[in-house]
Amino acid sequence: MTERYGHIIDGHEVESTLGHQFQSIDPYDQKPWAEVAFGGAPDVDRAVAAARHAFDEGPWPRMTHEERRSLIHRFADLIIENGAELALADTRDMGKPYAQALGNDVPRTAANFRFFADHAALATGDVYPRDDRHHLYSSYDPAGVVAAIAPWNFPMMLESWKVAPALAWGNTVVLKPAEDSPASATILARLALEAGIPAGVFNVVHGYGPDSAGQALTESPFIDRITFTGESNTGRVIAAAAAKNLVPVSLELGGKGANIVFDDADIDNAVEWSINAAFTNTGQVCLAGSRLYVQRGILPEFKRRFVAAAEAMVVGDPKDDSTQIGPLSSDEHYTKVRRYFDSIEQAGGSIDTGRLGDGWTITPTVISGLSEEAPHLREEIFGPIVSMTPFDTVDEAVRLVNASPFGLNAMMFTENLSTAHKVAGRLRVGTVWVNCFFIRDLRAPFGGAGDSGVGREGGNFSREFFTEPKAVVMQLN
Ligand code: NAD
Repeated sequence: MTERYGHIIDGHEVESTLGHQFQSIDPYDQKPWAEVAFGGAPDVDRAVAAARHAFDEGPWPRMTHEERRSLIHRFADLIIENGAELALADTRDMGKPYAQALGNDVPRTAANFRFFADHAALATGDVYPRDDRHHLYSSYDPAGVVAAIAPWNFPMMLESWKVAPALAWGNTVVLKPAEDSPASATILARLALEAGIPAGVFNVVHGYGPDSAGQALTESPFIDRITFTGESNTGRVIAAAAAKNLVPVSLELGGKGANIVFDDADIDNAVEWSINAAFTNTGQVCLAGSRLYVQRGILPEFKRRFVAAAEAMVVGDPKDDSTQIGPLSSDEHYTKVRRYFDSIEQAGGSIDTGRLGDGWTITPTVISGLSEEAPHLREEIFGPIVSMTPFDTVDEAVRLVNASPFGLNAMMFTENLSTAHKVAGRLRVGTVWVNCFFIRDLRAPFGGAGDSGVGREGGNFSREFFTEPKAVVMQLN
């Protein structure tokens, strides 16, 4: 074990005030690979004070959008140049296949910074014509110090969806990455400094959630926004902390993605995307298509091909280029997912394919025969386990999808345009993908209904959250 990752506070990489550290365990070999500063309230206080000072006194919120844009673009260049180090950090922290981290997460992280820098630089305010004696306009002022709390499943990429718009709109940030994926956050903050983003603008504090750095950050009286991605129950705790200080909060929470395959689907396309939706990132995706609803006419053929494609996936060392399915992210998470795997038959289901693999690995698993009430269909498993349920009519499919407390997203496969539009209109979810999955346009709203979240990210939605929109009303004498 050679790597060390500190907090980044006020432009310096530092150890914890109390000198504590924790180890990051590589979930493939189950050995510690890095030592990480273990922060608590004193470290959060230092980081928030640095971010506060950088916001209240520093140049960042006072720069032009163009100046910030060019520094953020330089930062994005460095993310690409250091992509191998960033990708390996996420792979070793949480078991994501390296090829996916390097081929997808690194370029998307850089692209997120570029998009929000450009979006803020190109944005306009509004003028509200009234009469010849008044002039009314709006401006979007930076909100202040942003507390960002992230999960471990797409570490750098999800952090960038928070940090990028926050920085682009002139805020300063304290990021607390997940305890299971700390390393890439420190690397990102090092690169931000190297790019010339001023000290105190982008701070990172490591630690856990409850009674640790996460809780201290969300309860700080000196922050102006909380942006959180993680489990729905954690979201409830964070919303309560935000309410206490009346801090606006954005919550991107859990999901139980539904995937409807109609009889008239292009079956090659439906199988390919459905496999992708169910098993990308070992199924550890909030958007995962873990509830497959297949119309009865196409069921035998779809199931045969879907199971064959699941069995063809390469499970193994996430550092090998050919690996598609790595281990689950941690001992604790493996134990949770395994509990669902072990109780499939008890819940009334049967396993079409799937088994426990080496270490913390579970191979792509397909279940049939579960009733609607089975925990496997109602709760977020967050692993490579998908259930397949037949349906007959459009109404039945819509009812099944909407029966979930989660409402993050749904997929649908059909060649009938009318079905696609009608069903999309009836689904209670934040995103509907038709004949595809995971295509994200950063201008569009992203977020969840029900237990899947509060608020939306993306384009102007991020602008509304990370700024204080202001109206200026002037009487002309
Ligand atoms: P988690 O809620 O356990 O932890 C997320 C983060 O919150 C971590 O940094 C953790 O340390 C912190 N935290 C935990 N308790 C806290 C508290 N009381 N106060 C402050 N911070 C606290 O979630 P996870 O297991 O890391 O991530 C998986 C979850 O994230 C899944 O439910 C998944 O669906 C969800 N997710 C949602 C989206 C989305 O866009 N909606 C994207 C990715 C992941």
